[in-house]
Formats: sequence, structure tokens, C-alpha cells
Amino acid sequence: MTEFASRVKAIDISGIRKMFESAAPGSINMGLGQPDFDTPDNIKNAAVKAIAEGKTGYTNNAGIDELRAAVARKLKTENGLSYEPADILITAGGSGALHAAIFSLVENGQKVVFNNPGFVSYGSLATLAGGIPDPVALKPDLHLDVEALKEHFSDKNTKVMILNSPANPTGAVETKETIKAVVESAADYGVTVLSDEVYEKFCYGDTEFVSAGTFGDNVVTINAASKTYAMTGWRIGFMAASREIIDQAVKIQQYSLACPTSIAQYAALEAYTGDQSSIGVMKKEYEARRNLLIGGLREMGISVDMPEGAFYAFPKLEPDTVMKIVAAGVIITPGAAFGSKGVGYARMSYATSQENIRIALDRIRTVVK
Ligand code: PLP
Repeated sequence: MTEFASRVKAIDISGIRKMFESAAPGSINMGLGQPDFDTPDNIKNAAVKAIAEGKTGYTNNAGIDELRAAVARKLKTENGLSYEPADILITAGGSGALHAAIFSLVENGQKVVFNNPGFVSYGSLATLAGGIPDPVALKPDLHLDVEALKEHFSDKNTKVMILNSPANPTGAVETKETIKAVVESAADYGVTVLSDEVYEKFCYGDTEFVSAGTFGDNVVTINAASKTYAMTGWRIGFMAASREIIDQAVKIQQYSLACPTSIAQYAALEAYTGDQSSIGVMKKEYEARRNLLIGGLREMGISVDMPEGAFYAFPKLEPDTVMKIVAAGVIITPGAAFGSKGVGYARMSYATSQENIRIALDRIRTVVK
């Protein structure tokens, strides 16, 4: 029998995938975190053009210069962050950026703080890097508990905190005041904040998005084209950080990936510099779906906070009810997949049509009536 490395034995395959594999045919899939929209045509055409022009070789390890410059401009104009193109590492999605950042910053035995419930990758990446995942419970309103975070920052073993707003799986968006408090107290203890901003464009109502990097230079900004431009399969993201961090992170990328896909980088260049109108169209539709879903769930007596961003609802549902809902033909993800404090909840992705949401609500009604 093959003996495997302890780092890989210590982690498990994501609970989200497991749920998907157990679904009955004809199920409505509210389990996966990916836009159901197609990548806009101008972006697809840019990829076709790159192929036709033979832009198919390796690129710089850190990504093509034009895309690094475009990302630096985007961060300046949209996020109020000052980065030079050389401070940008183009990665294979937000996942690649999290990998490069965590592997270059976290030393064996150091702690990585993140929210519980939280995105599935944070703890596993921390473990793979030799670090220790340190999930911190959210408050009952599913927002960050700044006082609890401070306590974890004060542990001298804590190296990194991952801040995710708008958040997966809760849909919570943190206020400017909370983000400022988190960044400043992390700075007090020498903790680096990785700000995972992949859902930045999807904030609803009068909810405002703020980049954590505006409050301190102890922040690494992580983002991706994946959700913003419906480009999950293209695998392009980035990290923006001080030159000294990028110089280390690029080594992780060089020896694991070489470079992100050349063609996808040219597509992402068009995404960040071309027509931006598709974002508004998607956001409007997500917001309508959110309202439909939350209204429907509340009408049948299910307790759920109004998500302020991303495309997830996180209603209170006991594990046996979740199983019954899945058996009734609606794939949703048990909250436990996102951490111990997710038990008693489920994540429902509303990156699916309003028609599908209506069918899903009808099926859920048969379970909870
Ligand atoms: N961060 C969060 C919070 C996510 O939800 C996801 C994907 O679901 C990612 C990062 C990874 O995104 P990407 O597909 O760009 O790797």
C-alpha cells in the first residue's frame, strides 16, 4: 500500500463536491459557487485572437506585463489602492493567489486565522503549508467578531488572517469600521491580512464594498476574474502586495505552475480593460434572485439573514432537513462543510435562474411544511 505524506492525509476533499456527487438526476443545483452566466463575448473573442496570434507560449512567471499594469490601474481607480505593476502577481484564480500568499508567508507551526464558518480552502491551504488553521467563530449575526479576532492576533504564533468580505458561505459584507478595526489590530500584533475580495462586485442594496488595503500596508489583496466576469474555468486571479512579498510568492508560482495560462491572461486583460457592463447586468439579476429566494424561505418559516453580498444564502437548517431537501431534488451544502460553527445551517447558491429558484422553493416547501 502506498504511504502518503502526512500533509495530504491531514486534509479531506471538500464537502461541497461530495454533496454534488450524491445528487439525484433532475436536481436543482444550488450547491456550487460559480456564476451560471456565460463569459462575455468580448472576453472570449480576446482569447480567440490570442490563439490566432500565437500567444501560446510560457509567459513571465508573474504574468504578462499588460495584465499586471491593468490590474494595478483597476486597484487604483476602483479600490483606492496604490500598487505598481511589479507589485502584482497574476495567478491561477483566487485559489492560486491564496496558495502563493499562504505558502510564502506561513512558517511551519504558525497559525492562520479565518472565519468559522468560512471558505473551505483556507484551513486546508494552511495545513498544506505546514501551518495551523485557527478558525474563529462569527457572531450570531454571521459577521466578524472583532474582539475575538484580537485575542487570536495576540497569540505570538499567529502569522496571517484571511478576511473575506463579501463572504462565502454567509453572504455577509463587513462594514468599513469593522474592516478598519481588523486591519489595524492585526497590524498591532504584526499579523498580515490576506483580503479575499473575489465577490467585491456583488454587494446589494446600499451595501458598500471597501478594500481592506485602504486601512494599512499589512494587507495582501487577493482577487480574481472568476466571479466578477463569469470566468471560473479560465483560472485567472491575482495577488497585490509589497514587492518583498511578491518576490517570494513568485517563487512558489514558478515551481508549481510556471505561469498562468497565456491565452486566459489575454482574455483577462480584455476583462479588466474592456466593456464593464456585464457586471451590472449580473449584479442586478443576482439581487433579484436573492430577494426571491430569501422571501420564499422566510415565507415558509425558515430563519435566514438577508445576505448583503456574494451569491449565497445561509439559512438555519438542521442536518436532517438538509438531507431531506437534497433527497427532494435541491442540492444545497450542509453548513458543516464550512467549519464546526456552520452546523445547523446550509449554504444555498443563487447563481441559478429565477425559474430554478422557484422550483427549488416548491420542493423545499414539501419538506418543511
Ligand atoms: N475565495 C472565495 C471566498 C471563494 O468563494 C472562491 C471560490 O469559490 C475562491 C476564493 C477561489 O476562486 P477562484 O475560482 O478564482 O480560484
